[in-house]
Amino acid sequence: KRRNPGQPEFVQAVQEVAQDIFDFIGDKEEYHEQQILRRIAEPDRIVSFRVCWEDDNGCIRVQRGYRVQNNNAIGPYKGGIRFHPSVTESVLKFLAFEQTFKNALTGLPMGGGKGGSNFNPKGKSVREIMRFCQSFMTELYRHIGADIDVPAGDIGVGGREIGYMFGQYKRITNQFTGVLTGKGLEYGGSMIRPEATGYGAVYFLENMLKHKGQGLEGRVAVVSGSGNVATHAAEKLVQLGAKPVTLSDSGGFIHDPDGLTQEKIDWVKVHKTHRRGRIEEYCDHFTGATFHPGKTPWNVPCDVALPCATQNELSVEDARAMIANGVVAVSEGANMPTTLEGVHAFKDARILFAPGKAANAGGVAVSGLEMSQNSERRSWKVEELQTMLRDIMDGIHNRCLEYGERDGHVDYVKGANIAGFKKVADAMLAFGVV
Ligand code: NDP
Repeated sequence: KRRNPGQPEFVQAVQEVAQDIFDFIGDKEEYHEQQILRRIAEPDRIVSFRVCWEDDNGCIRVQRGYRVQNNNAIGPYKGGIRFHPSVTESVLKFLAFEQTFKNALTGLPMGGGKGGSNFNPKGKSVREIMRFCQSFMTELYRHIGADIDVPAGDIGVGGREIGYMFGQYKRITNQFTGVLTGKGLEYGGSMIRPEATGYGAVYFLENMLKHKGQGLEGRVAVVSGSGNVATHAAEKLVQLGAKPVTLSDSGGFIHDPDGLTQEKIDWVKVHKTHRRGRIEEYCDHFTGATFHPGKTPWNVPCDVALPCATQNELSVEDARAMIANGVVAVSEGANMPTTLEGVHAFKDARILFAPGKAANAGGVAVSGLEMSQNSERRSWKVEELQTMLRDIMDGIHNRCLEYGERDGHVDYVKGANIAGFKKVADAMLAFGVV
């Protein structure tokens, strides 16, 4: 806290891993001597820059852009770009720190980074978004590269924004390289990248249940968010026979006791992404659903839960209500959606709890596969990628078991923290003091 004043999200993320790492390090001299955890928790580099753009009324607007390059011990920096008014250096530092562990867990050669801006895409015209993306990339381009740092999408940054940024990068550098992931299929994108995070979070949930001899079939699921991760998580739940009954956005949540269907999810995808609409309008289209303004969905009784909106959206009170309602498993589609106290409540109640760095790693994993395809200048088939995504999620689950299973119970938070840390730390030890 003293080293990072005014950065609560970053301090929270470091605290969440520190205890597990201290337990693991124990008397392992080298990790202590070399100050490995302290070095991972100090970003290699933070770039902060002015992003100036012109709105449709001819007014000049000024935003702040960032790229946090946290650690590149096992591969080029890799992590998304977020456009949201809540973006601060603290938020991006926490995300880049988490990303370092998550990327290590995938087994692919990727370091950790994150970037973004306090730009609010809501209510902006397509032209305004394009001008903003171009201006953002006009500075960012000098800090990134296919073998240096490869950004992707995140909150407020989807395929369209990636297209504008890739176009500007190519224009400035005159290079066609895999410098961004989440690209369109026409210009080097990978199949199943948009689906990968949500699908992966459900695969991880299924793996946790299977390990206990249980399944997803017929389970009532509560999902928060209604963006890329939430809609694809809901889609995979439906495919695997579960019953998602909620979605949300910053205005509140909808409860559909009949359960979401593919048709309803497709409507949400178009409504939220292309029309930038509000989730409350769901109730005008589908009977039986109710909208709950200003609320999160955690009081709706469920068997399984997938928080897929944003950080700290699930408090300790929410966690206690869910436990009282009989929740069996929680899989975090978003990054750090559960508060530190909430995580402890789930752990103490021995609920199956998958932290974001393990459960939502499917997205960055397919981004890693997109990088490989770009380097080889080829595209893999959808079936090949589906198999690879499943294998990667199985691999992450196994790594969590290796370090988190004790006395018949799996502490997935501990397992993910230690497995991610060990890989990065051992690479850092090999490099000496750098
Ligand atoms: P989107 O922008 O597609 O969707 C975000 C959703 O969360 C929207 O429904 C949005 O509502 C809601 N939301 C955002 N901020 C808040 C807030 N402060 N309070 C309440 N609701 C909010 O983003 P993604 O689906 O891509 O990302 C969601 C989460 O998943 C993030 O934590 C992200 O870091 C994480 N993640 C994403 C990956 C990816 O591949 N996209 C990979 C790994 C993790 P509204 O429309 O009202 O803003």
